[in-house]
Amino acid sequence: MKNVDYIIVGQGLAGSVLAYSLMQKNQKVLVVDEETETSSSKVAAGLCNPVVFKRLTKSWMIDDVLPYAKEFYRNQEELLEDQFYFDLPLFKLFVDESEQEFWKQKSNEPHLFDWINDKVEYPFDKEKVNYAFGSSKTLQSGFLKTGAWLDKFKKYLIKNDSYLNHKFDYANIEFRSEEIVWKNYSAQKIIFCEGYQSINNPYFDWLPFKLTKGEVLTVNFEKLELKHAINKGVFILPYDGDYKLGATYNWDDLDEIPTEEGRNQLLKKASKFINDEIKVVNHQAGVRPTVIDRRPLLGVHHEHQQLAVFNGLGTKGVMLAPYFANKMVDLLLKNEVLPNEVNINRFLKKEA
Ligand SMILES: Cc1cc2nc3c(=O)[nH]c(=O)nc-3n(C[C@H](O)[C@H](O)[C@H](O)COP(=O)(O)OP(=O)(O)OC[C@H]3O[C@@H](n4cnc5c(N)ncnc54)[C@H](O)[C@@H]3O)c2cc1C
Repeated sequence: MKNVDYIIVGQGLAGSVLAYSLMQKNQKVLVVDEETETSSSKVAAGLCNPVVFKRLTKSWMIDDVLPYAKEFYRNQEELLEDQFYFDLPLFKLFVDESEQEFWKQKSNEPHLFDWINDKVEYPFDKEKVNYAFGSSKTLQSGFLKTGAWLDKFKKYLIKNDSYLNHKFDYANIEFRSEEIVWKNYSAQKIIFCEGYQSINNPYFDWLPFKLTKGEVLTVNFEKLELKHAINKGVFILPYDGDYKLGATYNWDDLDEIPTEEGRNQLLKKASKFINDEIKVVNHQAGVRPTVIDRRPLLGVHHEHQQLAVFNGLGTKGVMLAPYFANKMVDLLLKNEVLPNEVNINRFLKKEA
């Protein structure tokens, strides 16, 4: 029998960030992952956009989570000797005058000073990009090459004897008074970071996910070259010599299969403002672990204290994971109370 402090199920963003956060506190972890190619984390474009474009409001808890996330990924870069996080302006292309006016008004509100620029700019080739009403950019945006980081971090886990490529099966869990056992591993707790597959977990199937399938294309253009990310209904992000074009949102068709409909939807939206041939290089789909109230899911099981969950990162896993993994560590190691907004107990049925 091999003893660790925590068994973590899932090596997506949630499981990986949590694993490292625990390792930094000298905890021994075992991360178990079945290595699906289509996990939400591997498919994600990894964008960190500090504002919600629709209403031009700050993204939830941005002042706390973004500095935390940047520091976490910078530390990973030092540890793994590679670059994964890139600062990059994200330009919002205005569809009409009123949208441009709304942005200008909002950029004068002090709480948005740090997050959106106040100037209307025309940095793109007008022949190739259709944006008669100009554009303006977000400040402090960027993106994480999620797949590259997860790959490198997996190697780090393997080197530290902390990784197992295996499907975690619930039937093999054995509850003992002082520990929990799974196959030939014993631990204080098992922490589930299974992304949307959590819906199959018999201990946490009461958590109210409202899952969202997303599709993203990797594309290239005949002539157009972009140095910045742009958004006009869809985003286009320069990525490893190509571009990520995304993403779709589908609440009904919850599988990881790329569809003709998703592809056409993205290409149609992009060709409304790109006057160039768009060549599709790759097409991926994944399911985001989105929750009914759009907040993460953290906590220990109300009956089985040896089981915990870290999930529900929704559409913003890159920004949210480091800050909330730290909250999870404080809960596990210092028994600190979780913020109500993210505590899974918010969904426990109250006794009459
Ligand atoms: C198309 C698309 C675009 C996106 N774009 C962005 C973006 O630009 N920015 C952003 O921040 N977020 C984005 N997201 C959301 C982001 O991907 C998620 O918030 C985040 O990756 C969720 O991470 P996770 O670790 O919770 O889940 P997952 O990535 O799904 O990881 C779960 C892991 O658990 C493993 N697992 C599950 N069950 C088992 C089991 N029983 N045994 C073993 N292993 C198991 C799986 O193999 C997987 O590796 C996007 C998502 C999609 C689909």
